Amino acid sequence: MRYAVIALLLLAVLAPAHPPIEPEDPADWWNQVLAGRAIKSLEEAALYAEYEPLAENYHTIHYELYLVLDPGSSPLIADAYTELELESDLDGLNEIVLEIADLTVDQVRVNSVPTTWDLDGYELTVDLPVPMDEGFLFDVRVEYHGDPSDGMWYDTANGGIVYTCGCPSASKNWFCCWDQNYEKAPATIIVTIDDDYDVTSNGHLVSDVPVSGGRHRVTFETRDAIAPYLIMLSATDYSHYRDYFYGDATIPIDYYVYPGMEDDAHAEFDYVVPTCMEVFEDLFGSYPFERAGYSVSPLPYGGMEHQTCISLLASLVRGDGHYYAIFVHEMAHMWWGDAVTAHTWVECWLNEGFATYSEVIYDEDQDGDQGRRDRLQIHRNRYDIGDNNNRSPIYDPNPLFGYLPYYKGSWVLNMLRHLMGDGDFYACLADYQADRLYSWATTEILKNNTEDFWDGNEHHSDSDMDWFFDQWVYLAGHPEYEWFYWTTGSGPDTVLHLHLDQVQSTEHETPYVFEMPVDFGVDYDGGGDEVVTVWMDERSQEFEIDLDGDVESVEFDPGYWLLCDHEDHTAVDHAEAHVSALEDGLLVDWDTGGDVVGVELYRRDGLGEAKVHELLLPAAGRYLDRSLPGEGSYSYRLVAHAADGTTLEFSTESADWRAPGEPLALATPFPNPSSDQVTVHFNLSGSGSVDLAAYDLAGRRVATLALGDLAAGRHELTWNIQDLPAGVYILRLTTGGGALTQRLVIAR
Ligand SMILES: [Zn+2]
Repeated sequence: MRYAVIALLLLAVLAPAHPPIEPEDPADWWNQVLAGRAIKSLEEAALYAEYEPLAENYHTIHYELYLVLDPGSSPLIADAYTELELESDLDGLNEIVLEIADLTVDQVRVNSVPTTWDLDGYELTVDLPVPMDEGFLFDVRVEYHGDPSDGMWYDTANGGIVYTCGCPSASKNWFCCWDQNYEKAPATIIVTIDDDYDVTSNGHLVSDVPVSGGRHRVTFETRDAIAPYLIMLSATDYSHYRDYFYGDATIPIDYYVYPGMEDDAHAEFDYVVPTCMEVFEDLFGSYPFERAGYSVSPLPYGGMEHQTCISLLASLVRGDGHYYAIFVHEMAHMWWGDAVTAHTWVECWLNEGFATYSEVIYDEDQDGDQGRRDRLQIHRNRYDIGDNNNRSPIYDPNPLFGYLPYYKGSWVLNMLRHLMGDGDFYACLADYQADRLYSWATTEILKNNTEDFWDGNEHHSDSDMDWFFDQWVYLAGHPEYEWFYWTTGSGPDTVLHLHLDQVQSTEHETPYVFEMPVDFGVDYDGGGDEVVTVWMDERSQEFEIDLDGDVESVEFDPGYWLLCDHEDHTAVDHAEAHVSALEDGLLVDWDTGGDVVGVELYRRDGLGEAKVHELLLPAAGRYLDRSLPGEGSYSYRLVAHAADGTTLEFSTESADWRAPGEPLALATPFPNPSSDQVTVHFNLSGSGSVDLAAYDLAGRRVATLALGDLAAGRHELTWNIQDLPAGVYILRLTTGGGALTQRLVIAR
């Protein structure tokens, strides 16, 4: 038992192609995985990172694997050859490099003629006796034997079983090839083994013939190209049954289980497998291969998407449906991973993210939107484990086969789907599938396909999806939003104000700003709801959205489409203020909703801001500001303090204040009586034409003191009277608003 646990941890590190089995304690499990990974995964990651495309001077046209196996003996591979049909990609090619690890090479032939070779580590350099020009086809046969140190195992389970798993790069440990994902070609697999062992492998069974020594020779052949890591064989005493998927074509589905597991197998597979094939065929395109199937083995982890013959850990087939998502995941790999293969492992999210999101699609088909959400929640939880332990991009992730390419990959597709809309998203996937069928793909290729289907918007043209892939695939992490809302107005004039901040740290290649549409669900008072979307592309932003009615509540991302953390800081959900001019000041009235303990009030003019009232004012109220410094235009800023310590600022519009006009007045001249000069004061209630003159008692105008347009307000003038004779005079002020008089006595 203890051995089994250790094996699970180590192999989970190396095997990318399965969703890990749900651990009892995820965090602790992950720490153990990391400890195990340190030994080999770093070494492998370095290998991928420094990968030189040595094989680009040829490519593989066909694989033929010939293996004579002695289960339980040494060497396990008693006799074998790999015959590769190759095509030269340059003129004068005189040597090629292949890979074969930890096995004894006995002979190498080129076009049946023995040749010289050099094995350095696992790199096998083969001399071509005759140089091959571009386009020339030639056969290289590498004969070998030995006990594989990886990739192929003998186990005593079920009375003895031989099984393989070349993923991610251990195919070279049991056959000779250029062990890279993109090196895809059809394969023939010929296995000679004891009669007690039933054999299954990729593609379709061509023949099963008896040979000497109580053995039989079984030949499988793939119709379509296959990557080296997807080539498999599994041999034991199998119970085999066949079902069919009736889709675009009739596809045989072969199940190979241990004797006694048949009832559990029927319970697990007979509904789920053809159903998920139908769901995927509808959305992704026709099932890509000539056959489908599953075989059980002691595979130390969940499953492996071997092309047309998925490998499953036997204990997953319990008959209770507990692990159905793994079976669905591996079947989705037939489209994503097998038919369209990540070019190298740095692109592994193209295999794993797609297969993992396919679990979501299946659950959605079965259980509606709740099924989608529930599966995404599981993926979110696992993403958090991976992200918390080692944040890194899903392109070239570290660790290469951690949780991130699976579960963040799934979420990236969920976001891409929401951005594009279901119609364009699935049309794009089907197009990408058809474009790259039986070949390899990269993130850039996928991005180009999305650009063909996305409609673009006012922020980005339809030929630009860099912004999406840069932040979600080539960079790491997720946005962390803090937000709150408030409303102003009411009924059909309601305005929703949204304030959003992004507060994520930029450590570990996390973008300072994630640019994404963000949905908010609005529930209206008295029923009804709607989803409004804002485009957030700054660190801090505020949005105003016109609504049709009073708001009951606002929910962040109600559809569960966005990979993020979000914290609602709304304590004041309604706030508005208005100002109006009165004779003796400006009247501010305000109203707030939520948990408000008080409001601060500040007056603003062109010069600055002043606090109007030292103490907190009530959550709703009126305040007459009599302390205006003069006539002018003013607005008011209010700060509402909520009980939780948060604040919300809101403002009034501007209002003009004018001092009320003074009454028309003409003061008694001073001094009075007077002999040489007098001072005359008068008030004008408005600006306009003025006539101020002096008359004698006979009614003759003797002096004009002021004539013409004057401004409203107080005026003062001095009048020299030395030339006038003594007597009584009348001063008369005439304006558009009326006339006033005063008497003046001149004494000598
Ligand atoms: Zn997988």
